[in-house]
Amino acid sequence: MKKILCILTAVLVMLSCCGCSSEKTMSRTLFVFDTVLTLTLYGGDETSLETAADEIEKTVREIHNCASAHDPKNQLYMLNVSAYGNDVKISDTLFEIIEQGLYYCELTDGAFDITLGKIIGEWAIGSPSAKIPDSSFIEKYSGFEGWKHVVLNHENKTVRFEDERIRLDLGGVAKGYAAEKAKEILGKHSITKAMLDFGGNIVAVGRKNAGKTWTVGVKNPSGNDMAAAVGCENTAIVTSGNYERYSEIDGARYHHILDPFTGCPSDSGVASATVIYGNSAAADCLSTAVFVLGAEKGMALIESIDGAEAVFIDANGNITLSSGAEKITEIL
Ligand code: AMP
Ligand code: MG
Repeated sequence: MKKILCILTAVLVMLSCCGCSSEKTMSRTLFVFDTVLTLTLYGGDETSLETAADEIEKTVREIHNCASAHDPKNQLYMLNVSAYGNDVKISDTLFEIIEQGLYYCELTDGAFDITLGKIIGEWAIGSPSAKIPDSSFIEKYSGFEGWKHVVLNHENKTVRFEDERIRLDLGGVAKGYAAEKAKEILGKHSITKAMLDFGGNIVAVGRKNAGKTWTVGVKNPSGNDMAAAVGCENTAIVTSGNYERYSEIDGARYHHILDPFTGCPSDSGVASATVIYGNSAAADCLSTAVFVLGAEKGMALIESIDGAEAVFIDANGNITLSSGAEKITEIL
């Protein structure tokens, strides 16, 4: 009996070793959304990893091409120049991004606002033409709650603006939406283990190993080291930080997340807001929103959303964790 058990154990060990060594890894780096995206996929079959990565690459580029407002060839550019007073038909993808964005505009009472294109363009933070807009411009294009005046027709997939100040900017949601679509593609190819890093928008698919979650670092906003490590499994983890994009104007530093009510970079005291949530598009909207809301209101919002967690870091490096984040976060 003892001998049979020994043989069985040996076979099981061999089988599990075969399982480990047959796992293939592939990594691909893309430059889209003005940032570096890294896909790391794991599975038993190299061909299906490559096929899934090809499909993700194609989809992500398509999403960028319809959701980026800068290029006159892009759908969003066309929408922005023609939707005031007119129903403009757009693709299902762009419609879905706008629809999800507007949902979070409402949920966050306008802290997240996808209609700030005019004022975002005028500040041009992170570009060589960055400047402080005239006070009259800021007055005109802040606090107008444009998101309340975007009319969607779900049947015809049209969008109409009812305020001439509206220009959509989807920079706060598009990467998260793209990462969510990438995750869906992995599911279609039965890839159950992957790490997708879309420039600060991370999707951890599955677990690192049996019994071990992925560890995702949260950057120290004022250094190159990590401030915290979060154990993640089948979730998105998205950070909005004042260090991600900024410009120095007349010796002062201005970051890229605007408070829709002031038309200026948010001064809520948050240096970075990280949201952990199952849906990556939602986590992207929420991280931008809670950055603007500040740690107190932002945390209250996160605690009210089932399954959402957050890590806030303020300008002095103080870290605040939501109740669920305490269980999965190590402060470094
Ligand atoms: P994120 O890095 O996801 O926080 O998104 C920041 C980007 O979203 C900016 O570069 C702008 O394009 C856009 N944005 C800035 N402020 C807001 C805001 N309050 N609500 C929605 N989008 C914003
Ligand atoms: Mg965002």
